[in-house]
Amino acid sequence: MILENEYEVIIAGAGPAGASSSIFLSQAGIKHLLIDKAEFPRDKVCGDALSGKVLSHLKHAIPDVAAKFAQNQKDYLPSYGVRFVAPNGKQADIPFLPNITKDSPPPGFISKRIDFDNFLYNNTSSDFAIRISNAELTGIKKENDIIQLQIKNGETIYHTKTKILIGADGERGISHKYVSGGSKRDLEAFSAGIRAYYTGIAGYHEMNYIELHFLPEILPGYFWIFPMANGVSNVGLGILSSEVSKHHLNLKKIFNDILNLPQFKGRFANAKPESQIQGWGLPLGNKYVKRSTDNVILTGDAANLIDPFTGEGIGNAILSGRYAAYAAIKALENKIYTEAFFKEHYDTLIKQKVGHELKVGSTLLKLCRYKFLFNFVVNKASRNKEFRDTISCMFANIDLRSKFGNPMFYLRMLFG
Ligand SMILES: Cc1cc2nc3c(=O)[nH]c(=O)nc-3n(C[C@H](O)[C@H](O)[C@H](O)COP(=O)(O)OP(=O)(O)OC[C@H]3O[C@@H](n4cnc5c(N)ncnc54)[C@H](O)[C@@H]3O)c2cc1C
Repeated sequence: MILENEYEVIIAGAGPAGASSSIFLSQAGIKHLLIDKAEFPRDKVCGDALSGKVLSHLKHAIPDVAAKFAQNQKDYLPSYGVRFVAPNGKQADIPFLPNITKDSPPPGFISKRIDFDNFLYNNTSSDFAIRISNAELTGIKKENDIIQLQIKNGETIYHTKTKILIGADGERGISHKYVSGGSKRDLEAFSAGIRAYYTGIAGYHEMNYIELHFLPEILPGYFWIFPMANGVSNVGLGILSSEVSKHHLNLKKIFNDILNLPQFKGRFANAKPESQIQGWGLPLGNKYVKRSTDNVILTGDAANLIDPFTGEGIGNAILSGRYAAYAAIKALENKIYTEAFFKEHYDTLIKQKVGHELKVGSTLLKLCRYKFLFNFVVNKASRNKEFRDTISCMFANIDLRSKFGNPMFYLRMLFG
């Protein structure tokens, strides 16, 4: 591994957040170093659902991304909606857009992260990006107006400096700890997730709807079954870490118990596991966290940007990667790398772009605890097309989604 003594920008982590930062820096002609402790293609424990939000943010980096995915159905299964199953077992099938058909451009896809992240990583290749894998960021130290980094490659330790570090090293990286001053993650803003791949699961919606089962035993959280290409399924569950800790939950046992529930037994009768059950954490966006400090900007999971209700984080990882690149470009132009500068040109912007949406997700997470409300909404949706269309519009429109937090919404529903 050959490192220069100093870089203008170093990105630690080449997942969706880091890869998108790299693409936007390259677009602006900014030379930078992109390191990752893994070697690509690499896997990441995830539900693998790529929503319309992922596509809409990614198209700024890769304009023809939706068409590319639609042409590659070997790796990207198009999905047209979501099946919500309430705690009482009632279900409602909600298309992602009202009146969508199989001939419409797919609003979302499901793709193994090993393929999707590798696609993104390949798109970071440019004259401006120096990419090094098996390079783990192990130390961050401020030295006057610059940052000193320690990077581990095999058994060898290297040192280099940078004006700006973009921390895109996810839930288990070290940049979040550096910016937060070492404080522990808040368990009310953290979810535990596990997932396994299966083949042979029956009973999907014909338009590849993803399924969210809000089972009473794991509220506020859900069990998911997502169809994938080649007859594979992604099956998993997520639950708030504070609940896991409070009730000493064993997620693998809960997962296996769920597969034996009467509503799943038949569907899993011919199912075969294709992987181990694997776990990973989800840093949720329902509490305030600092997202930058002198010389350092956090993105994606390192910046707690996962929707607290849906568990979706890839879209915001890409969005934050883009705005981190813009903030870095502005800082280099102005030769200012202070916390105050990044607060104004990054944290504030991220709050403007996704603050409202994360707040709505946080309200929905709280409402999830009220089983009767959930049962009521899903029951109504299962019987009323107009209401299903309203929910479809809520996927794209956050202001509409925020109505779920307003008591008037339920009163209107009750009275027609
Ligand atoms: C069980 C589960 C299910 C999920 N389901 C979905 C879903 O269906 N849809 C969705 O949108 N989101 C989902 N998410 C959230 C999503 O996985 C994350 O929000 C997303 O991966 C964040 O991207 P990122 O680039 O910030 O981090 P990551 O994807 O974690 O990438 C971080 C990168 O940094 C590297 N790295 C780590 N430490 C270091 C270091 N010290 N030095 C150098 N490199 C380092 C890693 O190797 C990795 O490549 C799920 C999460 C979990 C846990």
